[in-house]
Amino acid sequence: MEEMPMARLMVTETEVDASFYKAALEGSGISVFISGMEGSVFGAALDGPDEIEIIVYQKDLEASQAIIAELDEEPENEIPTWDCSCGAEVDEGFGVCWSCGGEYDAGAKSHDSDNAPD
Ligand SMILES: [Zn+2]
Repeated sequence: MEEMPMARLMVTETEVDASFYKAALEGSGISVFISGMEGSVFGAALDGPDEIEIIVYQKDLEASQAIIAELDEEPENEIPTWDCSCGAEVDEGFGVCWSCGGEYDAGAKSHDSDNAPD
């Protein structure tokens, strides 16, 4: 049997990260191999932090990269409760006003005192 070509998808610094990505990829039906985790108990102590490689089959590389990119795209900052310019209060997590359809503007501060007369 010929071995299928494999490719390194990414490198993580912690087993937690590696496990997180592995679970996400396997959830999408992609076979994932971790390199650097076995023996890292000793390796980390002797050689400093290990690099943990996440390896996939070459044929899965593109799909895997897309999945990783999606994971990384998740917003780091949740949208807080905000006041739309139309006067409606929009619950946190919603980027669009339920009343007028206006979009959340992270730079706008509606609660500033009115010290700038028109
Ligand atoms: Zn609005």
